[in-house]
Amino acid sequence: MQKAESIKQKVMPSGDTFASSCNACKQCTPLGACIAFKGLEGVLPMLHGSQGCATYIRRYLISHFREPVDIASSNFSEETTIFGGNKNFNTGIDNIIKQYHPRVIAIASTCLSETIGEDVQRLIFEYQETHNTMPDLPVMIFASTPSYQGTHSEGFHEAVFAAVKTLAEASGPVGDHINLFSNMISPEDIRHLKEIVEDFSIPVVLFPDYSDTLDNTSWDSYRRIPDGGTTVDELKKSALAYASVELGYILNSGGMNGRIKDNGTKQSAGEYLKSKFDVPLVRTGLPVGILESDKFFNALSSISGKAIPMKYQRQRGRLVDLYVDGHKYVSDKRAVIYGEEDLVVALAAFAAEIGIKPVLCASGGESGKLAGTLREVLGKNYYEDMVVGQGMSFERMEEVMQELKPDLMIGNSKGYYIARKMDIPIVRTGFPIHDRLGAQHTHVLGYEGTMILFEQIVNTLLEDKQRKSPVGYKYM
Ligand code: SF4
Repeated sequence: MQKAESIKQKVMPSGDTFASSCNACKQCTPLGACIAFKGLEGVLPMLHGSQGCATYIRRYLISHFREPVDIASSNFSEETTIFGGNKNFNTGIDNIIKQYHPRVIAIASTCLSETIGEDVQRLIFEYQETHNTMPDLPVMIFASTPSYQGTHSEGFHEAVFAAVKTLAEASGPVGDHINLFSNMISPEDIRHLKEIVEDFSIPVVLFPDYSDTLDNTSWDSYRRIPDGGTTVDELKKSALAYASVELGYILNSGGMNGRIKDNGTKQSAGEYLKSKFDVPLVRTGLPVGILESDKFFNALSSISGKAIPMKYQRQRGRLVDLYVDGHKYVSDKRAVIYGEEDLVVALAAFAAEIGIKPVLCASGGESGKLAGTLREVLGKNYYEDMVVGQGMSFERMEEVMQELKPDLMIGNSKGYYIARKMDIPIVRTGFPIHDRLGAQHTHVLGYEGTMILFEQIVNTLLEDKQRKSPVGYKYM
């Protein structure tokens, strides 16, 4: 493990601590793909690989979203690993169709199937060819997601891209709808985005929409495939949208910065639609904080030709008022922000605008774009001595934090053990949150979500101050 002196190098080299991975600040790539796939209506995700991968992913998703999550597996064995997974693939698809009757089977590869070089597109083609008379043959989508080439976030965006590439068709005139590619956000934030575009009266294809499938109502009896999700027909017409709006500056645009070279061919869904069908692309970051939310609302205003609805102008005004009320509690605090790269950028921009100094911005992602994007988005709020960690592990984060002595951590619950060890508070946001109830209802987007996040941060700091005070405070 590198010594902490490399903290002097403000942008840490990618993958510096885990040639073989050790407690990385990321999860596996097909896991992210499965979250995105759950945003399709009538879908059953399937992993082409070992059963253990599907079990791990199911366990992780259930613990975060608190919903039943079925993920099929082609169940590689020693024999399959040597001779290929063709037979298992076909049997797996047969079983899924028989048991689930899905409209879509969305397949993600795993480390193992990618390592042995399985051509999953060919397996799909052959299955479709031999079953072309089958009534209601499900649509099949494939995302290539070896975990050694990316993070859960990149898997998510690969799956979004794969779904759009498989389904989008330019058959008809350009419609009056937009595509909104919403990034890896909570079901609650998806609902909020839908409410916003509805208030602008903009018809929208929002993808992926797992606001119901991963946050459903209570059922009387188990449903193998829950209701909800973006439909196949909606995605077909994504090629006929008059614009795409993509939330995120980094998405899946970077490959591994060190160990495996990026071949420069990766595209986001919005970039694909722009290059293939000439759909104009507007890209804003995740709308957290006033500055980044303003960019999103202004984009919708310019696309729709309508003023920002009064409801949101008032929310913005209340948020400014809240900043005034709470400024004294957050000013000059020093925070560590970690998680998916686009979320880190959004949270850092928000922290900087409220006077919290992000002393370390860390991600397991290795796009090579985190430092540059932070500098661009934070602009005059950028701190020259901020440490940017890409391809970081939690062990390395802890080493750096021991030197930086931050006041606060903002990120997923995997950082909890560091917060506990260093006796600093943690504000849980992002993915995964396994040690609290309500991860599916975290709401950080827009002026409204920022209000909730701001209050959460202030109250966490106040609680920490009360807890550590020998006398306690009744008024603060
Ligand atoms: S082997 Fe690869 S795909 Fe499977 S769970 Fe582990 S990281 Fe994910």
